Amino acid sequence: MSDASRDAERSSDTVFGAIVRGEIPADIVYEDERCLAFRDLNPQAPTHVLVIPRAGISGLQEADQADPSLLGHLMQAAQIVARQEGLEDDGWRVVVNVGEDAGQTVAHLHLHVLGGRKLSWPPG
Ligand code: 5GP
Repeated sequence: MSDASRDAERSSDTVFGAIVRGEIPADIVYEDERCLAFRDLNPQAPTHVLVIPRAGISGLQEADQADPSLLGHLMQAAQIVARQEGLEDDGWRVVVNVGEDAGQTVAHLHLHVLGGRKLSWPPG
């Protein structure tokens, strides 16, 4: 088995893999053939949406093994979500936590789309 397919298998085992497969519910706000966006269970801002690929990739630590067009697609989906959520005028943030020090808890790539309040910088 290649490293890429092993990673795909691992990330499909996560809770986000179960959401992609429809095995557990999620409050889905956007979806298309390549990705899914749903509200975070533990929101850190008035709008807190997670954008994830349907395909399993464990995180940006595997970006060099992913289809670059998929990574771009996720960024465009984040913008679509931000527009839908009415964040375009005041601004919004995309966060990707990578690995332990960054606090990544789910090994399935996800973009946090945050907005609806003033976001401090630098992040903690
Ligand atoms: P991370 O810390 O890996 O960057 O982000 C994982 C995020 O997933 C967290 O913000 C957490 O609240 C969210 N989360 C974990 N499990 C679930 C779930 O079952 N459903 C939803 N909607 N969000 C989840």
